[in-house]
Amino acid sequence: MAIRVLSQNVADKIAAGEVCERPSSVCKELVENSIDAGASIITVEIKNGGIKYIRVTDNGCGIASSEAETAFLRHATSKLESIDDLNSLATMGFRGEALASICAVARVELLTKTEESELGAYLVMEGGKAKEKQEMACANGTTMIVEDLFSNIPARMKFMKKDSTEGGYVADVLGRIALARPDISFEFINDGKSIFKTNGDGDIKNAVLMIYGIECAKALINVDYEKNGIKISGVIGKPEISRGNRTRQTLFVNGRYVKNHVVSKVVEEAYRNAVMVGKFPFFILGIYISPELVDVNVHPAKTEIKFACEKEVYDAVFYAVKSALFGGAERAEKPQEKPAEKENAADIPPLQSEPQAVQLAMNFSPQPKQKMSVGRAFAEKGALGSRFSFKETPQSIKPDFTEKYIEYTTPPADYKGGSADFFAGKINPPKAEMPEISEAAAQAEEVEIIEETQDEKKIIGQLFDTYVIFQQGESMFLADQHAVHERVRFERLLEQKNKNESFSQVLLSPIVLDLDPAEKMIMQDNLEFFEEYGFDISDFGQGSFIIQKTPVITSDKEIKNLVFEILGILKSGRKGGMLSVEERTLDSIACKYAVKANKRLSAAEMNGILNQLENLIKKGITTCPHGRPLFVEYKKYEIEKLFKRIV
Ligand code: ADP
Ligand code: MG
Repeated sequence: MAIRVLSQNVADKIAAGEVCERPSSVCKELVENSIDAGASIITVEIKNGGIKYIRVTDNGCGIASSEAETAFLRHATSKLESIDDLNSLATMGFRGEALASICAVARVELLTKTEESELGAYLVMEGGKAKEKQEMACANGTTMIVEDLFSNIPARMKFMKKDSTEGGYVADVLGRIALARPDISFEFINDGKSIFKTNGDGDIKNAVLMIYGIECAKALINVDYEKNGIKISGVIGKPEISRGNRTRQTLFVNGRYVKNHVVSKVVEEAYRNAVMVGKFPFFILGIYISPELVDVNVHPAKTEIKFACEKEVYDAVFYAVKSALFGGAERAEKPQEKPAEKENAADIPPLQSEPQAVQLAMNFSPQPKQKMSVGRAFAEKGALGSRFSFKETPQSIKPDFTEKYIEYTTPPADYKGGSADFFAGKINPPKAEMPEISEAAAQAEEVEIIEETQDEKKIIGQLFDTYVIFQQGESMFLADQHAVHERVRFERLLEQKNKNESFSQVLLSPIVLDLDPAEKMIMQDNLEFFEEYGFDISDFGQGSFIIQKTPVITSDKEIKNLVFEILGILKSGRKGGMLSVEERTLDSIACKYAVKANKRLSAAEMNGILNQLENLIKKGITTCPHGRPLFVEYKKYEIEKLFKRIV
């Protein structure tokens, strides 16, 4: 095949893909230009998730009429003159690529005026070329309108998600930029509705209030730290506003919103012991560092960065967060006291270990695919698919005893268990003493009594307050109490849903929910979806929503978490793993009903779990909705082999 130089048109479209991947990246580029132009008020309006229409209006310096067309040329920039400048540039963009890229993939209108000129310039760019230009009266500043993004690139169009999802991305990125620059007033309008507006008074707490709501704004701790010329400032959240995901973590470097997973890890390390496992702290942190030490252009969209002095930066982040969170006030009062000497070291991890912690976080890299465990292998086979093919029967699992044996023979140093409990009858209470069905069991599914089989099941007890151990025939089984109960609930909800039965319950006192801009848009778009799943949620204005009915009665906090979880599912798209959005939603609800792990069960409750498990197995269901096994089996001969009774 002949080697050819790509035509400019094709080359532009390829380059454009790097800079403007989707409406949110276009908005980011345009807003960054407005910031560079010194604007103090920036308005962004989108329609249809930004695919049909994006407008960014600013009150910045404007573009001189004579330069309006030049701005759209590739490598046209007013921010960089020679290669030396590259090292110390502190503006948002300096590759001169954004406008060229955008006008290669969309129709662009520009209306701009500088303070010096009387009249402004109006320019229409189509297919990368100026189509119309005229003088026009307008205010100082610039308006860019981008229409029909990617309409000339069907392949890219295919990657666009639903309007509300794309719009959510825009809201997300704009919200973060607004948090980075509380000194600028930002307004974001989606399909004619104002989603948020910050007042630009320079106070980050006010920006947080407008973006995340009052609950977050009330739980902020200031961070202000400087060492070796590295300045860390911003706010972190008190542990109680930690979320189940990292969406409320925002990092800026020299005022630019960037992503850096190591910084997240370092902050999380600093919060260690303060937030529960599985919860991620809230933070909005800015790192201010000499621009020569940062390379933002490693990523075409400039969202990923590299530091020249990583260790120092990460150390500074760690100490900044740690002292704001634990030591701040105390240390200011007693400067002579080293935190490491504190007596209550259990609450406040000693600072000496911190460089190590930072090192650990820096070494962090996404986990390599783990060796498939017995349970996983089983789960993948059994998966949810089994729900649809009832013929499938559960297979027995062959645990790898040789590997596990080593672990079992060396109990951890703090292990206190022993056989005393067993002989004291605590683990296997005599049947006669079985208490009446308790609350959890009462909540549990009413199950028909299964006719006794030849192989009678015998409950041995509960392991780690999480697994029910039982024996049947020549095998010992461990059943995961939460997984079994969750699956039963899931099946029941699915049935109710299919029969159009309502599973909605009225809350005694309604719950008010503060949402961030992206969540707010997803919520507005999905109020009916929530209704289908037993919620009654309505818009309360100002990013607040009010919940009056829910599918499950639990604590306010859990209900909020459930709603956030479902919003997360909706935000992530139509599918996740092997479950559809609908199944994931039902599962989240089911999970809130289900008895938790680490909960001691009565004998009756264990019996309930066992009955439920039997019913599920009868239907050919052997995994939780995510595909994890409900139980594992250990054969008698395998146990005997361990004890060398047989060879
Ligand atoms: P870069 O931002 O990397 O310089 P862009 O393609 O984003 O490249 O913009 C090209 C040039 O257009 C900028 O350098 C700037 O001079 C001008 N420009 C773009 N947007 C604006 C704006 N909102 N206000 C003033 N000038 C602008
Ligand atoms: Mg730019």
